[in-house]
Amino acid sequence: MNRHEALPERSVCGMSGGVVARDGVARGAKGSPQCAKYFHGVKSLLFAAVVAVFGFAVCGTANAAPPKPASPAGTAADCPWLNPHLPIAKRVAMLVKKMTVAQEISMVAGHGTKPYVGDTPAIPSLCIPSIGLEDGPNGVGDGMKDVTNLPAGTAVSATFSRRLAFEYGRVIGAEQAAKGSAVDLGPTVNIDRDPRWGREFESFSEDPTLAADIAVAEIRGIQSTGTMAQVKHFDAYNQETYRNTPQDKVSVSRRALHELYMPAFRAAIRRAKVGSIMCAYSTVNGYYSCENHYLLTDVLRDEWNFDGFNTSDWGAVHSVSAAAAGTDLEEPSSRYFGAPLEKAVNDGTISRAVLNTMVSRIFYQMFRFHFFNHPPSGSPTAVATTEKHQAISTEVAETGTVLLKNDGHLLPLSKSANIAVIGPAASAQVTYGGGGSAHVVPSSTISPLAGIEAVTGMSSVSYTQGLPTDAQLTPIPAADLSKTAAVPSASKTRRRRGPQLYATTLTPPESGLYIIGYAAGCKRWFGKLAIDGKTLSYAPGSPHSVAVHLNQGQSYRIELACSPSKLTWATPSTVHAEIQKAVAAAKSAKIALVVVADDTESEGGDRADLRLPSAQNALVSAVAKANPHTVVVVQAGAPIAMPWLDHVPALLDTWYPGQTNGTALANVLFGKVDPSGHLPVTFPVKLADVPAASPERFPGVDGHVHYSEGLLVGYRWYDAKHIQPMFPFGFGLSYTQFKYTDLDLSKHEVDGVSAIQVSARVTNTGHVKGTDVAQMYLGMPSSTGEPPRKLVAFRRVTLAPGQSKVVHFTITPRDEWWWGQHGWTETAGNYYVYVGDSSALANLPLAARYEMKQSIGNRQVTVSAPKTMKPGTRTVVSVSLSAGGNETLHDVHLNLKAPGGWHVKALSQKASGDVAPSQVVTEKFAVTPPSDTVTQFVTLYGTANLAQGACKAGDMMHQGKAAAWHHHGKWAGHHHAMWASHCGVRRHGGVTVLLGS
Ligand code: BGC
Repeated sequence: MNRHEALPERSVCGMSGGVVARDGVARGAKGSPQCAKYFHGVKSLLFAAVVAVFGFAVCGTANAAPPKPASPAGTAADCPWLNPHLPIAKRVAMLVKKMTVAQEISMVAGHGTKPYVGDTPAIPSLCIPSIGLEDGPNGVGDGMKDVTNLPAGTAVSATFSRRLAFEYGRVIGAEQAAKGSAVDLGPTVNIDRDPRWGREFESFSEDPTLAADIAVAEIRGIQSTGTMAQVKHFDAYNQETYRNTPQDKVSVSRRALHELYMPAFRAAIRRAKVGSIMCAYSTVNGYYSCENHYLLTDVLRDEWNFDGFNTSDWGAVHSVSAAAAGTDLEEPSSRYFGAPLEKAVNDGTISRAVLNTMVSRIFYQMFRFHFFNHPPSGSPTAVATTEKHQAISTEVAETGTVLLKNDGHLLPLSKSANIAVIGPAASAQVTYGGGGSAHVVPSSTISPLAGIEAVTGMSSVSYTQGLPTDAQLTPIPAADLSKTAAVPSASKTRRRRGPQLYATTLTPPESGLYIIGYAAGCKRWFGKLAIDGKTLSYAPGSPHSVAVHLNQGQSYRIELACSPSKLTWATPSTVHAEIQKAVAAAKSAKIALVVVADDTESEGGDRADLRLPSAQNALVSAVAKANPHTVVVVQAGAPIAMPWLDHVPALLDTWYPGQTNGTALANVLFGKVDPSGHLPVTFPVKLADVPAASPERFPGVDGHVHYSEGLLVGYRWYDAKHIQPMFPFGFGLSYTQFKYTDLDLSKHEVDGVSAIQVSARVTNTGHVKGTDVAQMYLGMPSSTGEPPRKLVAFRRVTLAPGQSKVVHFTITPRDEWWWGQHGWTETAGNYYVYVGDSSALANLPLAARYEMKQSIGNRQVTVSAPKTMKPGTRTVVSVSLSAGGNETLHDVHLNLKAPGGWHVKALSQKASGDVAPSQVVTEKFAVTPPSDTVTQFVTLYGTANLAQGACKAGDMMHQGKAAAWHHHGKWAGHHHAMWASHCGVRRHGGVTVLLGS
């Protein structure tokens, strides 16, 4: 199908076709043909940006993008910046110098959502190609066809495999390129702060180290294909409720930001050299993320020296001041960066340097990714998926599958076992991925049942749904409903915009467990369903359902986000009859295999609680009672409650496994593949146990979301509060067993600037080959205020029966840093090292102690430069390392990095020296910017190498690996990644100055 047939013209997809979501962003309605682009298939909507919070349309004509400049195509002679032999900075300056304000504006303003969900325009006279930005994190999104629906982000991180994350990224990068999109809007690296977050599935983990390592590998994979990655959403974006509204005001400490919510972004920038970043919908400490100078300039530029560009999340710019704060590209509309910014630049309210900086950052990356000389050549109609891509998808799904319980070695199953496969999620209503902009239309699908039958043959397998699908629920007869009325929506008073709610009264004809749902066509992005004031579902799209006990003759008030004529149900007698069919099937089979799924996770809404939809819990309980050999397969992107856990002997969690769901599942079930996934998030026993259980923390009250749990996110909370989770972070069984022995530390005293090598022996003590994820945690001195333990490193180790291997880890000084009042600091004292295969002490059999005798404390690098520098004119800039700690540093090197084409010369003869605790050391540099440049803001970046050579090894290995990928397109091995993380004994800091007059 031609893309233009598949996707709507913007001019007909206006407010009438869209709906207004909880976040105030209008989304295309399911089934609304003119908004087909924004609908992602069976259950979710891609809202790809439509109307921002204060009601402007970008899906319609109300806010038409500025016309693309019509100009004759330039030739190479007209466009000397096409010369690939010139330094990129020079090429950028040459080009920007030639541009008018209007042309620059056209580069930084959004142009709607067609042909890609974001685009920058071509300016032919300047040889500027158009580039497309397309979702997303789990495969090519936005309704594109013939692409691979990969497993969700939590499945990738559950592999704990950098190799697979890299391969996963390569699939995404290659498919974006095939579709002609230049920038992949992914990965999503926000911390999974609360399991109710609707986008937990598309992100990686509650742990910043795991999230960072997986993100780095995936970004390297994406960018190795020539596609640029756009890491998102910066920062503290951890819930859908109230997003992009004035109610989504996050209060979070800088310490939690730096230690939890930023490391994956920093790693994406510093280690993976990501080309672009997306600022978030959230308001962080008083400022919208996309207008947050602290996040976008102080941290992104001055602290991390990011040289890429920052795109707003769709509709997340709220004023022109976002430009000066550090947002370079508004998407998808031109509401602020179009005419208003142009006016502000022309009348001098905003300096031209701001605009030049924005376009320079975009061009810098466009040159870096060769888009000028080799513009994207793919096409939206191309078939992007390949067998190889699908095989990688299967491998990620298999490897990410977590074996949570296996009493009596029930798994793996024998192919000849008589199996009753049960549950709508096994065949009749299968879940492959989550909803929202991370939704991917699968090129083909294999259900769990089909996958199992492909391995066993049909004869030994029976299938029983056990429950009606949501689509099979029947309308609630009008006779059982009364007093239907549109209610003044509670959400309308809380938010500027919200769905219209309707209320009705249900008087049940019998007592028992009902399934209550809303039918397809309940055209709401945000499908709230509440009974007697208790919200049971927020699931976006429809149909969806929940299970609830109701009493005959009692009146229940039901509220939902569409007409009560859309209310559906299955009465207790129907539910019971269906479950009894499953019980009978379970009784007559050797193995009962129940597949359950949470198909409600999606951008646009948070889950009301951790319960499985429909009556799946009742189904599992009944089947487990009927057959002692019950295996439960959970297909959900995030933790779910498991009230039946004690009665089920075997349990697998596959996350959202992508389009080859059944193949991957069967390979694990029948033992072709050893399940080696480990949990990237803690599974709580109950919702009340989660760190952000209180409404002040999630989703916030009175317009404030308090991150008052501070550093105690995920397992850090459970460990500190001594709360036993259902399954701890890092946990995962295998078909074999492992033993940990021989912990060895290369030293037991450190000085705060040198690393420690740690090794431990892992032995396979079982009877089959298997893989474990060896994990090392670090406990810091309690005076630091750090949680009891934090993950520092992990390694997958595959062993034959009886085989053992020594795994090696490194603790770098950076691992010992924590964020104090003045920035990173370090504390002398006792440190504890734990090695094992989950975060729980019960799974950490090895422990040792070492002591940090000296510490560098809070020494920081500062760069002092005049606020303005002139092109071609020499200026003196100084880099200082402040005093702190109790350690004399030897051989300290201070350096200054300026943008390409600048001349920097150290003025002192002495390039390095010793620095005593009370001393401040300063190095002066003569800095001369090129004379032929444009006025803009630039960052001068100072570094202090605190231990000579410690960073170099890491950097060199890094480069070696990058080269290996480039030439062979392959991952070059785990050791490189290990060494790359050694580079941690630098302090750095920068300052942004105006280059111009
Ligand atoms: C989402 C982003 C996505 C963008 C474009 C936004 O609503 O938050 O993650 O990339 O839409 O679809």
